[in-house]
Amino acid sequence: MKFVNEFRDPLLAQQLVEQIRSLVSKRWTLMDICGGQTHSLLRYGIEDALSDYVELIHGPGCPVCVTPSKAIDDAQQLSILPGVILASFGDMLRVPGSRESLLSARARGGRVKFVYSPLDAVQFAKNNPDAQVVFFAVGFETTAPATALAVLQAKRLQLTNFSLLVSHVRVLPAMEALMLSPKHSIEGFLAAGHVCTITGYKSYDAFADRFRVPVVVTGFEPLDLLRGILEALRQLENGHPNVINCYSRSARREGNLVAQEMLSQVYEVVDCDWRGFGIIESGGLRLRDEFADFDAKLRFGLSNESKRNAPELCLSAEVMSGQIKPPQCPFFGKQCTPDSPLGAPMVSSEGACSAYMRYRSYVVSIECAS
Ligand code: SF4
Repeated sequence: MKFVNEFRDPLLAQQLVEQIRSLVSKRWTLMDICGGQTHSLLRYGIEDALSDYVELIHGPGCPVCVTPSKAIDDAQQLSILPGVILASFGDMLRVPGSRESLLSARARGGRVKFVYSPLDAVQFAKNNPDAQVVFFAVGFETTAPATALAVLQAKRLQLTNFSLLVSHVRVLPAMEALMLSPKHSIEGFLAAGHVCTITGYKSYDAFADRFRVPVVVTGFEPLDLLRGILEALRQLENGHPNVINCYSRSARREGNLVAQEMLSQVYEVVDCDWRGFGIIESGGLRLRDEFADFDAKLRFGLSNESKRNAPELCLSAEVMSGQIKPPQCPFFGKQCTPDSPLGAPMVSSEGACSAYMRYRSYVVSIECAS
């Protein structure tokens, strides 16, 4: 039996794979919701090892990939305004907007600063009172508490030169949109453990009931994923879909109440444009009116209107909804590569296309002793 050396407990991994193989009566289809999970499934060869037993498809869990091109265009526009410095996570820099990426805007003289956290941007604004610093706030419920904290901190410091360009999105409405699509083939979900660490998972009860699918809160380590897959398949086999937490070392049913309180203090839920999906009801966050002073769109007069995204060659919608896998995209590895990406899923460190480029040639076989 060969296993990837990086498995922390190869014996346990073998046992989990054996249990999965002996449990299933048909090939089920599960969707992982987090880009980190997608990368682990590919990196550790789990997708290949279980391919006869479960079809693992990859959902819209890459925050960079779902940020609409309008938001990138807004960020690019801000970066070239006199006196403005756009601060962003590094992952966003190479994502194509409808005209160009932030990296190419920077090459043309746009002021784009790479930061590790929103609080770094607050500190930068404090140290540079003559500059207007805008932080590009993207991501799911995992990153939103940090941007909410940045706003609260800027308010406490009475900074008038700090604001947010907000493009935060929410996971559960996207899962609902996927299940309401007539094209979906999803029979169960591996829910994103880090999102549930913030939000909790009690809101998944109604979802699992409504769509009759198992939702298993799952981490990112290979053993977490094998446990999550086993639990989801067990539920599918016994016909009792439910919500189960297989990531109890981090996620609690109620979630992180402090983070939730901060989120609801600063943000309100709105319908939101997702790249590749269009408008998702209750799919995003915007700053509450009390924090309008920190809204870069208002401060710099950017339109709030959600333009139709420019038509793209990239099949990210099909990839992120699990309709195709990256190698089925005709551009994969040809016109679209990590050096010359056509779409965000090839750029982002959490994108499904980048995972397949990086790990699919890394042939790993998991053979169970029989
Ligand atoms: S391979 Fe490239 S063009 Fe195709 S879906 Fe992925 S990012 Fe888009």
